[in-house]
Amino acid sequence: MCFRPATTGMGPVRCPKCGAEVDPKLDECPSCGAKAAPTPGIPAAPGAPGIPKPPSAPQAPEAPKPPSA
Ligand SMILES: [Zn+2]
Repeated sequence: MCFRPATTGMGPVRCPKCGAEVDPKLDECPSCGAKAAPTPGIPAAPGAPGIPKPPSAPQAPEAPKPPSA
């Protein structure tokens, strides 16, 4: 398997805004000043609430049964 995580740790990361290569140690692009996006996989702020569940779709009402003959 040649799976390689997109940008984790080493190597310059690409600024999503201007496309410049930004040192991952920097937290913002020296070229355009865009804040570096948090890398997925790295735990962000602690105490983050879980993903809220989307409201469950209302159940379709039962179709009235046709009178059986
Ligand atoms: Zn940039």
